Amino acid sequence: MKCTTGKNSYGSKSFAEAALIDIHIYRNFPPDQGPQDIYQCGYCGDWHFTSKSTSRNERLQEMIDSGEMRRLQQARRWE
Ligand SMILES: [Zn+2]
Repeated sequence: MKCTTGKNSYGSKSFAEAALIDIHIYRNFPPDQGPQDIYQCGYCGDWHFTSKSTSRNERLQEMIDSGEMRRLQQARRWE
């Protein structure tokens, strides 16, 4: 569905979370760079990324805390 915000839309929270984590891996963002969280849109009802947020998505935070994000980013670099 095309949203008036012009942002990429995800049909469910889990899709949006997975995409949020993917973009951190593929674009090699430091933890505090790039989108930090997701929200359900009041216009289209789908999920979008939050670019500026005081909170960080729980799954993203766990990946960072466990070192998994760093590991995946480094693995990605050697591909
Ligand atoms: Zn929307």
